[in-house]
Amino acid sequence: MKEQLIHDTSFKYGNNNQKSYITIHETDNVRRGAGAQNHANLQSNGNSREAAWHWQVDDKVAIQSFDHHFQLWGAGDGRGNGNLHSIQIEVCVNADSDYKKAIENTAALVKHIMKKESISSSHVNQHHTWSGKHCPRKLRDGTHGVTWNQFKKMIGKASGNHSISKAANNNSSNWTKVSGNWTGQTLGNGEYGEPVKQLQTKLANNQPPFYPNKSAENYGIDSYYGNDTENAVTRFQSYYGLAADGLAGKQVYQQLNSSSADNPSSGSGKSISKLVEETKAGKHGNGEARKKSLGSHYQAVMKVINGESSSSKQQSHAISEGSKVSANRLYTTSSSTKNVRRSSISGIVDTINAYWRNEIRLKDGNGNYIGFTRGQDLQ
Ligand SMILES: [Zn+2]
Repeated sequence: MKEQLIHDTSFKYGNNNQKSYITIHETDNVRRGAGAQNHANLQSNGNSREAAWHWQVDDKVAIQSFDHHFQLWGAGDGRGNGNLHSIQIEVCVNADSDYKKAIENTAALVKHIMKKESISSSHVNQHHTWSGKHCPRKLRDGTHGVTWNQFKKMIGKASGNHSISKAANNNSSNWTKVSGNWTGQTLGNGEYGEPVKQLQTKLANNQPPFYPNKSAENYGIDSYYGNDTENAVTRFQSYYGLAADGLAGKQVYQQLNSSSADNPSSGSGKSISKLVEETKAGKHGNGEARKKSLGSHYQAVMKVINGESSSSKQQSHAISEGSKVSANRLYTTSSSTKNVRRSSISGIVDTINAYWRNEIRLKDGNGNYIGFTRGQDLQ
């Protein structure tokens, strides 16, 4: 383990990382020599980067670039817990690095951080958890000698005594009971009852779904507004451009009702994917008739249909790998327009990912990463 600490960066939200999670990434950079030292240098030297991460690991070494208190841009979830409250690790996948060994080193590093910062293994996440990006790619594919589950086994459950008391504080402090139906009254961490369950159900039925805990029983729909639900609400808010404060109030309620499948006003409770199928099959007609038939689901359904057809047929707006691009990015840091940051970035498109929120990696002429941007920023 090695330190090559950077004093500060503009690619951060702030300095108040609560260190509640660890996020695992892969660099996707298979170029020979693109190992941990190379990426650490990139962070140390680069001034056109659009992202930052705390650690980089390869088969030889783990190098820390930033103190854990930095809230770095890397998880693609805006002001969600991924960017704000996780420690981010890039696993190098350069062709001249032994991938399995790099994962073993990453597991050792994660265990070290879990212990040091009192983070439990259930809070060790993929980048995918936060933004839906297919990252860490090789671990997620599981076809390169080690799967995500094997990696989770490698880091074990133990994370020191601190984490147990921390978890206890989060989970068994005095829950406040709330009752009735959820009609947009503000719900938050520490509350439990029927309104919370209704919120959780709506989050899970949303298209795309925001499960409180995808791997838990019933997707974590348990009537308790704990950290998982707060996290799901924060991700939901940041996905829809709402102020991401982790509280479920009027705005969240309205957004859930306009995008969720359990809205009783139309579509008779069918999921968006079902409605998409039906629409494709012609069951909802065209034009105004389709609008009428789909009601409040019209936009969500059309978004899916248009998104699909644009990736399969209309390539005219797509950016091809290797093309030169430049883009302006806006960073909205609150629902008001006061705190909007703009920065520009240019480079050569390296990797394209089809998901809406996913970043496109940009390289300079030497093949070094210079940053990330999103497809929509380039169009
Ligand atoms: Zn990533």
